[in-house]
Amino acid sequence: METTKKVETLIIGGGPGGRTAYAALHRLGKKKSMLVMNLEPTVVCSLPYGVGRRLIPGGPEDAVVDISKSPRLPRDIVQNTIIGSVISINTEEKVATIKTQASEYMYVSYDNVILATGAVPWIPPIEGVLMSCDHRSDNEDFSGEVVCVGNQFAPKASLAKGIYVMRTANDARALDKFAQEAQSAIIIGSGAIGLEVAEALADRGLTVTIIEALPHLTPALDKDMAKLLEKRIEERGIKVITEKQATSYHNGSLTLNDGTTLEASGVVFATGVRPDTRLAAKIGIKVEKGIVVNKYMQTNIPNIYAIGDATQIENTVSRKTYLPLIGTLAMRQALIAALNIAGKPTEHPPATSWGVSTIFDLHWGSVGLTEELAASLGMKAAAIVMPVRTREPAMPEGKSGQWKIIFSTEPADSIKKGQILGFQIILDGESPLSTVERFLDMIVRHETIPELIGHFHIHSPSHNPPDDPYMGIMFRYGIN
Ligand SMILES: Cc1cc2nc3c(=O)[nH]c(=O)nc-3n(C[C@H](O)[C@H](O)[C@H](O)COP(=O)(O)OP(=O)(O)OC[C@H]3O[C@@H](n4cnc5c(N)ncnc54)[C@H](O)[C@@H]3O)c2cc1C
Repeated sequence: METTKKVETLIIGGGPGGRTAYAALHRLGKKKSMLVMNLEPTVVCSLPYGVGRRLIPGGPEDAVVDISKSPRLPRDIVQNTIIGSVISINTEEKVATIKTQASEYMYVSYDNVILATGAVPWIPPIEGVLMSCDHRSDNEDFSGEVVCVGNQFAPKASLAKGIYVMRTANDARALDKFAQEAQSAIIIGSGAIGLEVAEALADRGLTVTIIEALPHLTPALDKDMAKLLEKRIEERGIKVITEKQATSYHNGSLTLNDGTTLEASGVVFATGVRPDTRLAAKIGIKVEKGIVVNKYMQTNIPNIYAIGDATQIENTVSRKTYLPLIGTLAMRQALIAALNIAGKPTEHPPATSWGVSTIFDLHWGSVGLTEELAASLGMKAAAIVMPVRTREPAMPEGKSGQWKIIFSTEPADSIKKGQILGFQIILDGESPLSTVERFLDMIVRHETIPELIGHFHIHSPSHNPPDDPYMGIMFRYGIN
């Protein structure tokens, strides 16, 4: 059966970006939108905690979003959502073709499109991770779940037995089942997702090994900060192997580049993601690392916007193009696209990378550039590292941690001397979020350490210590 429909805005992808775009357009009075989603919507960020079951005892099912009940989504989203995939768009005629879950075709004419096609797990092209080599899915109908192995998109179903990833509700369900049956797991990659999955599987009683190609855990942290995490992780019984890469996998055996072979019930690849730009590329949209957009989230094709993990933007600190891959930024970009569609011109604000997570109650956060990244970009930078305590010394309930502030030592191009380029924090047992957000604001506004004089420290003994940490940074930097 074929049907034809007319909408103002066609939103493609039901992740946080697509769902927020629908809600934002609705609030702007633009109520003739259609959302097309090919996967059940989830609170993606909570999936590892569903697998761990300590913080979400109900398991991964509790992270699935019921769009008919979500308090943040308009009630009419249910009737305006199509479960299916947009398989092509005639950009001249402004008509999209949708293949529904029931394999029926729908033709939708639109005024605007918001591409929110997100990203899929990326796996290095290691021998044995796919059941066979010929599983290209670049030209299929975008209906099934995919991974990207090297440069090739492949159906998830073609992954070898015992290989797992973490992105969707089905991935979390598979890992939840695996955790119930397995004894051991190897996690490859130690970014936030790798560590969250490692903790989840350790919580479920598995013996866990983490393998990281870098000389230390977690690319968002410098080595000195990452060492604190590594210590906690090893104290909790997880084995950490750094500076090693997997080269082949066969039936539960993983071989590393030094020839070592490790055995495990399963291997989880947490080695990053690749923007899903297949539909964009198919219809002639400019793609580099991700979909290329201007400051209004417009692509090179009129009336087609793109947001979220599928897109690349400029990092305001390095001035280089990057893939932010941050859910809350995808949601902000959805609002920007919606405002522009509604005739309220709104530019993308300066942004940089950020991330906050926790493992075994050790919280960590990172904003902007690491010292290592700044050096690799040829920037002249130095760092201030200082211990912090969350209460005055007389209060035993205080928690300990460490801050690291990365700043430029020489002016260059758009960088000022003393400009804060990055911030990292490790805090034991307490959330660092408000501090990380504060540094995020300073960093995207290109503030220097002397400008910290305008950032006041509020003290209350029941909340924090009397020492003003911002003054501490200024003293260490030098005030003369
Ligand atoms: C385990 C995990 C933890 C995370 N934790 C955090 C966190 O704590 N904080 C944070 O800010 N971010 C976090 N993130 C990142 C965050 O989840 C992503 O940045 C966010 O999901 C991006 O949203 P999106 O809408 O751009 O893309 P996605 O969430 O990838 O959604 C895109 C959707 O579009 C669908 N799609 C693609 N093509 C088509 C098509 N042709 N037709 C129809 N549908 C299509 C895809 O199947 C997918 O469902 C985490 C990610 C993971 C995996």
